[in-house]
Amino acid sequence: MNIKELDKQYIANTYGRFPVTLQKGKGSIAIADDGKEYIDMATGIAVNTFGFCDDIWVSAVAEQLMELQHTSNLYYTGPCARLAQLICERTGMSKVFFSNSGAEANECAIKVARKYAADKYGKDRNVILTLRNSFHGRTITTLSATGQDVFHNDFLPLTEGFDYVEANNIQDLEAKVKSGNIAAIMFELVQGEGGVMPLTQEFVDRIFELSAEYDIITIADEVQTGNGRTGALYAYMNYGVKPDVFSTAKGLGGGLPLGATVLSDKVQNVLGAGDHGSTFGGNPVCCAGAVSILSRIDDALLADVKAKSEYIISELTAANGVTAVDGMGLMLGITTVRPVDDVVKECMDKGVLVIKAKQKLRLLPALNIDWDTLKEAVEIIKTVCSTEV
Ligand SMILES: *Cc1c(COP(=O)(O)O)cnc(C)c1O
Repeated sequence: MNIKELDKQYIANTYGRFPVTLQKGKGSIAIADDGKEYIDMATGIAVNTFGFCDDIWVSAVAEQLMELQHTSNLYYTGPCARLAQLICERTGMSKVFFSNSGAEANECAIKVARKYAADKYGKDRNVILTLRNSFHGRTITTLSATGQDVFHNDFLPLTEGFDYVEANNIQDLEAKVKSGNIAAIMFELVQGEGGVMPLTQEFVDRIFELSAEYDIITIADEVQTGNGRTGALYAYMNYGVKPDVFSTAKGLGGGLPLGATVLSDKVQNVLGAGDHGSTFGGNPVCCAGAVSILSRIDDALLADVKAKSEYIISELTAANGVTAVDGMGLMLGITTVRPVDDVVKECMDKGVLVIKAKQKLRLLPALNIDWDTLKEAVEIIKTVCSTEV
């Protein structure tokens, strides 16, 4: 059997895959098993921060791999301590809990918020407000947090204690906060899976004002928006706010599984010994790679992310067959006249890997994609979007 047949027979049916088997890659170029080359504008859903098999990241990972691959959290290791230091120094936060995925990073954030509220106000104060159309993960609790009924229906009952506010609706937010028992508000600054929709400055400001007034924990889900993706190190920095907790994953590991729940001074000691844990969390190989990734997300790189973002936005806003471009930095959602599935398929036929978010084309290129490659991809996307059918 070939790979596609093996996969169809033995992999659980949870994924709809594109009809391409990727074999290797370098930077922003992926090569399929039939030898066809693609420009990668998806980075494994905002994971491969510096593209495929980036030399610096590969060296950092390989060096650690040959020293020590895993210890459990019963011992100290250098890479995870150094990564936590780097994250805290660059954000002004105080402590980090490491896990292996976005969902787990959010689980930890939710536990911190629930315990903070219970310690201070009693067990009844346990509701986590999230936003409609959000995405926070696939575990039963993070599905509960995800404000989209389509993800819920087959798996009821979900974890209790979640309520939902319409994104960018300040009245709805105020009403839900004042209804009481709110432990935390959790939000993506740019809703990724929900269609690449940024929150408005006014709405974010109101979240932080109300949270200060009612002592509600703010949790920014930076799983997709984090680590330079939006042109700031973390997307909340674009809004001039500072959450009590943020979670991140995807791009942090640059291609290896790593989640982080980052705690401000206010909540840094909420969890004590034995309150939470992870066998793999803070794995030295993943963390060594992440130290290298994060060290390279500096002001020059972020300026470059913004310049590339402006280029894509101006080219595609003016393109035939494109009706809107939303998003921030190199996390962009393109509304097309043609059905998005047709656009994705035709881009792939023409050698560009793109994905969707709801009914939009979603672009998540490597932060260091070179200009020529980017221009080539944008030209192909423009041609496909403008094709009359
Ligand atoms: C992808 C994503 C998650 C879930 O991350 P996993 O690593 O798949 O568990 C959570 N929140 C946001 C905003 C995401 O984009």
